[in-house]
Amino acid sequence: MRSAVVVGAGIGGLSVAGALARSGWRVTLLERADRVRPEPTAVVLWPNGVRALRALGLGAGLEAIATPLPDTGVRRPDGQWLVQPRPIPADRMPVVVHREDLHDALIAGLGDRVELRTGVTVRSVRAEPGERPAVGDGRQIIEADLVVAADGTDSEVRRRLAPEATVVSSGSAAWRAVIPWYRAPRLPADQPIGGEVLGAGYRFVSASLGERGSSGGSSRGGIYWVATAAGAPRPEPPETQLALLRRWYAGWPGPIGDLLDATDPADLVQQEVRELRPLPRAYGFPVGPGGVVLLGDAAHAMPPHLGQGACLAFEDAATLAVLLRESRLPDAVQAYDRVRRPRAASVVRQTRRMSAVLQTRGRLALRARDAALGTLTPRLLNTAAASAAQWRPPA
Ligand SMILES: Cc1cc2nc3c(=O)[nH]c(=O)nc-3n(C[C@H](O)[C@H](O)[C@H](O)COP(=O)(O)OP(=O)(O)OC[C@H]3O[C@@H](n4cnc5c(N)ncnc54)[C@H](O)[C@@H]3O)c2cc1C
Repeated sequence: MRSAVVVGAGIGGLSVAGALARSGWRVTLLERADRVRPEPTAVVLWPNGVRALRALGLGAGLEAIATPLPDTGVRRPDGQWLVQPRPIPADRMPVVVHREDLHDALIAGLGDRVELRTGVTVRSVRAEPGERPAVGDGRQIIEADLVVAADGTDSEVRRRLAPEATVVSSGSAAWRAVIPWYRAPRLPADQPIGGEVLGAGYRFVSASLGERGSSGGSSRGGIYWVATAAGAPRPEPPETQLALLRRWYAGWPGPIGDLLDATDPADLVQQEVRELRPLPRAYGFPVGPGGVVLLGDAAHAMPPHLGQGACLAFEDAATLAVLLRESRLPDAVQAYDRVRRPRAASVVRQTRRMSAVLQTRGRLALRARDAALGTLTPRLLNTAAASAAQWRPPA
């Protein structure tokens, strides 16, 4: 039986570990945290992410927890439309999912062929020619035919195999929260919960997770919001961060003020937005009879402006699973590199264009941006949506 070690039990690691186990691999999943615990926020899955999850055999589980996300357009802080909402065909509509629900679905997909070891921090990787790949935590060495590095943005495995890829700040910070329905504000009938507002260096996006009072949709329903602001994360406690957010977004269109007022400081998740620059020179490293691959944020951490990080992690997992079924191990590792690097590079390019638009500051630049946004943003979003919709798992 072929064996794999997957480093990191985030979205990427859980999905690939389950996929390999379901294909008959013996899998050891190593996680440095004491418990596998997702953030109490949500994630938007574009059609490519949904398709990848279906290819991984997790489509039925997803349907039970996902809420469709219709296009809500983009407004300016003064309420004017930058981009009018447009109807989206059902098969191209993204969905929003609570991360805790998604983790439950991924954990259920592990079955009983994955040995999950928590509290194990991988500190070394062995990738010398002629030897079996292995990782170590300073106390033990764990060998396998395949090592999958799904250890996130600060991946130790990537640091050793592709040291040229460095983690840099994208110059902004993000705050997210899910307000459970029982605490969610009652909004006027003409005020939709979901929407996107774009200002000078600031952006606010909200979406409904299931429906108030309904048992359908997300089992952990509520209102999800994410705010991004140019600058560094705040060192103050969450109460002060919330007060700052209320100040920054004061006067922005409803329901932003109501959502910030209804957010409990304990719900708030703050994060510095970081990315890999440059991307690693390779995603697959044949080693002896096997190999090492990079997957998810370990391979292509990017700002969340197009909401594609988790979707690409699922694409990585679905692609790897198919290639490993079809080819010999070292060939599959090389094919994974050939297929996934251009794909990730293209999404990262689009994300960087979006970063430039989002981070425009200064009155003149802003006016030029707002003028351009009416044509640029739909074009950019169209390209991103089209490329997202087009992705198919390898046959
Ligand atoms: C504000 C924000 C909003 C976002 N919104 C979206 C969205 O709407 N849609 C979307 O598709 N993406 C979104 N993303 C991106 C998405 O969250 C990430 O791309 C995704 O979570 C990456 O998953 P991962 O499993 O690769 O990495 P991670 O989730 O970082 O998991 C890595 C795991 O590895 C473990 N680990 C790390 N080092 C070691 C080690 N040395 N040994 C053992 N274990 C280790 C960690 O503890 C962790 O559990 C967003 C990101 C941000 C910041």
